[in-house]
Amino acid sequence: MNEFLLDLRFFYPCLVSSLKLPPLSHSISLFLSLSVRHLLYLSEQGESDCCRAEERERGQGKENKENQEKQYVGFATLPNQVHRKSVKKGFDFTLMVAGESGMGKSTLVNSLFLTDLYKDRKLLNAEERINQTVEIIKHTVDIEEKGVKLKLTIVDTPGFGDAVNNNECWKPITDYIDQQFEQYFRDESGLNRKNIQDNRVHCCLYFIPPFGHGLRPVDVEFMKALHEKVNIIPLIAKADCLTPNEIKKLKDRIREEIDKFGIKVYQFPECDSDEDEEFKQLDKELKECTPFAVIGSNTVVEARGQRVRGRLYPWGIVEVENQSHCDFVKLRNMLIRSHMHDLKDVTCDVHYENYRAQCIQEMTRYMRDNRMESPLPILPLSTPDVDTEKLIKMKDEEV
Ligand code: GDP
Repeated sequence: MNEFLLDLRFFYPCLVSSLKLPPLSHSISLFLSLSVRHLLYLSEQGESDCCRAEERERGQGKENKENQEKQYVGFATLPNQVHRKSVKKGFDFTLMVAGESGMGKSTLVNSLFLTDLYKDRKLLNAEERINQTVEIIKHTVDIEEKGVKLKLTIVDTPGFGDAVNNNECWKPITDYIDQQFEQYFRDESGLNRKNIQDNRVHCCLYFIPPFGHGLRPVDVEFMKALHEKVNIIPLIAKADCLTPNEIKKLKDRIREEIDKFGIKVYQFPECDSDEDEEFKQLDKELKECTPFAVIGSNTVVEARGQRVRGRLYPWGIVEVENQSHCDFVKLRNMLIRSHMHDLKDVTCDVHYENYRAQCIQEMTRYMRDNRMESPLPILPLSTPDVDTEKLIKMKDEEV
């Protein structure tokens, strides 16, 4: 404003000569000069008032901020601290896959994590499989995405359901899960609790064949034997063998049978009421589509001008990641993006807690029956190695 008025006062005479404006009479010029001075004064006043107000506001803002800082303890940064620490430490997840041989377990795992976990797999022929017992094979791979490290362990169960006599073929699997709980319990009760290796199984993908009319007796027995120990997620394998209508019927049938036989498969946690509508809708769709009907493939094919993971047949292409072809994407999102942490929490808070409570109960009963004072003799402690001995000595000295 100031600048504009000054310009007007000094440049009017120039305008008079260049634009041929009529020269101002003395009185008008005097009036203009006074008005300009008055306007200048007013504008200066206005601006300084404005500056003062701004300064006052700034001062108040600073004071408020200082007051706020005084009241701000700082625990609002806790999530950031946890985030930083967890990213540094990395994550681990143990996934078990179970189901008859040839159901597409390895192909699905490779498709899920985009790795080749089964490079050295040796397939047995029919004769070798007659008396084959269920084996437990662990594959571990470290994957990293955007700086976040995940140690993924896949526990495979070759031989399950393959023998002529499948009586109790789930026993080695339940034993394995118990052994991991036992190991964890032992480590947790030991001296060196800092670096406990957690090998507990967080989730079991159970492959149901697409060819039958629902669950087979072996499926029912397997799930019943494991449902109190691990989060079971039932899958319909090789879903490209079925039409959409057949998939729907099979899913309904399996859901009915799961209810009928009292099998407790993994339950998705209830959605909070304050979640947004989109999230609620996704959650609803997820719950409705179990058991997931999946398709796996290790090959990339060309479909609609794009390279996609799929299966090429003489009559067309089945796309693994096409949601109108199968539930692979829903399963992957659930397993990795939305529910991995919940699967770990349920393992720790429900399944392991049950095992631990049972163990302590047994120990207490044993102590009572044998009039013992310490529960230690029943705890399956391994003989201490040199490092443990050293640690015990150090602790003794400290005491
Ligand atoms: P695993 O023994 O359960 O690990 O089964 P594999 O992953 O080795 O698969 C056995 C066979 O089934 C292979 O020839 C795969 O290419 C095929 N296969 C895997 N997934 C699918 C699928 O979703 N649909 C169909 N039709 N075949 C599949």
